Amino acid sequence: MSTSGSPGVAWPISQYVLKVHSRCDLACDHCYVYEHADQTWRGQPMFMDTRTVAAVAGRIADHASAHRLPSVSVVLHGGEPLLLGPTRMREILAALRQRIEPVSRLDLRMQSNGVRLSEAYCDLFVEYDVQVGVSLDGDRAANDRHRRFANGASSHAQAMRGIGMLRQTAYRRQFAGILCTIDVDNDPIAVYEALRAAQPPRLDLLLPHATWANPPYRPDGRGTPYADWLLAVHDRWTADGRPMPIRLFDSLRSTAAGGRSGNEWVGLDPADLVVVETDGTWEKVDSLKTAYDGAPATGLSVFTHTVDDVSVLPDIARRQTGLAGLAAQCRGCPVVRQCGGGLFAHRYRAGTGFDNPSAYCVDLKELIVSLNARAGVEPVPVPAPVDQEGRDLPDGLLDRLGSGRTDPDAVRFLAESQLSITRALLVAVADAAPTSTRAGWDLLARLDQEAPEAVAEMLRHPYVRVWAVDALRQAGSDAATGAHLSCVAAATAVRAGVTVQLDVPVRSGVISLPSIGAVTLPEPVTGSATLTVTPGAWTISHGHGRTLVRFDGDPDTAEPHVSGGRWQPSRRLPFGGSTILFEDLDPYRDCHDWKAAERVAAPAFARWGEAMAAAWQAIEADLPHQATAVRMGLRAVVPLMDDPDGTMRSSTARQAFASVGVARADGPATAMMIVHEFQHSVLGALLDLCDLYTPEHTGRLTVGWRADPRPVEGVLQGTYAHLAITEMWRYRARRAQPGSVAHQRHQQYRTWTADAADALLRCGALTPAGERFVHRIAEALTR
Ligand code: SF4
Repeated sequence: MSTSGSPGVAWPISQYVLKVHSRCDLACDHCYVYEHADQTWRGQPMFMDTRTVAAVAGRIADHASAHRLPSVSVVLHGGEPLLLGPTRMREILAALRQRIEPVSRLDLRMQSNGVRLSEAYCDLFVEYDVQVGVSLDGDRAANDRHRRFANGASSHAQAMRGIGMLRQTAYRRQFAGILCTIDVDNDPIAVYEALRAAQPPRLDLLLPHATWANPPYRPDGRGTPYADWLLAVHDRWTADGRPMPIRLFDSLRSTAAGGRSGNEWVGLDPADLVVVETDGTWEKVDSLKTAYDGAPATGLSVFTHTVDDVSVLPDIARRQTGLAGLAAQCRGCPVVRQCGGGLFAHRYRAGTGFDNPSAYCVDLKELIVSLNARAGVEPVPVPAPVDQEGRDLPDGLLDRLGSGRTDPDAVRFLAESQLSITRALLVAVADAAPTSTRAGWDLLARLDQEAPEAVAEMLRHPYVRVWAVDALRQAGSDAATGAHLSCVAAATAVRAGVTVQLDVPVRSGVISLPSIGAVTLPEPVTGSATLTVTPGAWTISHGHGRTLVRFDGDPDTAEPHVSGGRWQPSRRLPFGGSTILFEDLDPYRDCHDWKAAERVAAPAFARWGEAMAAAWQAIEADLPHQATAVRMGLRAVVPLMDDPDGTMRSSTARQAFASVGVARADGPATAMMIVHEFQHSVLGALLDLCDLYTPEHTGRLTVGWRADPRPVEGVLQGTYAHLAITEMWRYRARRAQPGSVAHQRHQQYRTWTADAADALLRCGALTPAGERFVHRIAEALTR
């Protein structure tokens, strides 16, 4: 049963916080349970009774069983759970272990102020294997700032006594660590030293709860006091050799390397956590109490609602969707994959709810950037897709592409978008490139003023972007990759016919001018050559000004004068009344799933021409409504190495828009491969502009055309490619006899594609734009 009224996806929930006692023996003034906006604790029973515990345990066990969860985590929380007394505590622990353990491994934990820890309790925690975390804010002065009894007395000594007990050999295994809430008025080093002296197996440093409605305390108007405080601790901790794990720093290091954060405070890990109050009501994450009165409420209860019912609630589901669930500002933030917008509760602002960056945004950014700099980590910024609903796309584009009606306008739009991305990448490459390649960038910048169309044409070459991405990945470690910038600039200057002289790199004896050709020297030397462009002519010279090649006129039509090297021109093939680049020269073309072929000899090149001409005829006949878009959209074909078994081979590289890799085949097979890969290229370009699925979705889907379950993007790509292939077989079947191979293929592809579209629509990973796009695919299949 779902009470949300929406056909939401039931996410697996593996973490549960049980409020087993709703009161506390301390009166900490920073406590979000009693001192923040939400005051629902006042109406809660004092403790969770056995009937409620049994109901909770049953719900968790049923959910774990249904979702085949290998383990679940249950944290006993309060108030203060130790107020239960050992007898009630035992009943709860026994009930949880008894009901959940048979279906899923149970990780039992408790968070306490430690004041009432006793041997009786500790023995119980050993018996039921409960990991106990203690809250402590540092030395006595720091701890006394907030963590006091209601009468104002310090709780420090009692908490330290409790920690001391957990450190005894008999109980040491049950000590989970210390949780410290930061106060920037406390000295960071004194706090760190005090916590370190307590020898916790792990330390959590938490930002005090705050929202945009109730902003973080910033003494003296300081800009980033929390980042400064944490960096001071970090530096001392590092100097000490990291004597214990500090979760926040470890999480940020992990996410810097592309790993998981392991918690809900930072990063994009799904937060699959729900809370149960003492009366058995399900609540959203506890920290929401800081947002507004009633914020965590769901209106659901363990007595009437399953975990699946809770997991479909929008605020629970949203916290599982990673990047897709963040505000637009966060999605465009360079550190978003590490920060993740901070803790969900800290994003709250009246009016916009949780659709904001964290109230700690400036501190989080400063902390992450500083830690990355200290670690020498400079992750390539991942440009966040801009849109999840297709709002930034031209009217109807999503529908036209989804329904397999890609038209010239759509292709033009995608091509221009790709050009913008390549331009942005080029700027980043120039920033990171060694100063020795500065001349190439300066020339490109000049040409952009004097011959902008020549620059745009060069940047539309599919493998310029492939190189740019490669150069950014290798920034600082491979000067030769950065130096290719001069090759791009040189080729542009030749096209533009602009007078210039420029050094270009020689790599393994080859001087490459993208889309124009390459000179190969007799020896595989490295170094540089010189390109000189004068009115009506251009030359490449090497070694004391010796001219290797000279053209008097357009490189595509003039005859080269070659001496001391071998000139290999880029070649083009006729395709649909125009020509297409036959790319068997570019040094960055070998980025496809299959190895790119070496330079193709003249007789084989002639056969390629015949196959492409036949392929175009087949595309016109079998995909008439999209043939023009294919012809306009395709800029290059890369010959791939043939499969020794004769299997058809084709591939698209994600960064090489408008280029397809194809192995040799006859015309109709080549047509199928070109169309298949063109679809991938179109969808890749669309995904650069619009989120169609949530990247953090880790589920895999089964499809008809592959034996192994596939990730969502793979299924989306396959479905879109097969939409066009289904259409081609439909046209072929029309011309064939009933029961022919064409009919069988049409049925097979149609079934595969329709089933895959259905699986995508049901998997819960699609954004609103993705759902719309896939619905169009599904509709097109019923045409
Ligand atoms: S640093 Fe700020 S903008 Fe960036 S992800 Fe974090 S909260 Fe969002």
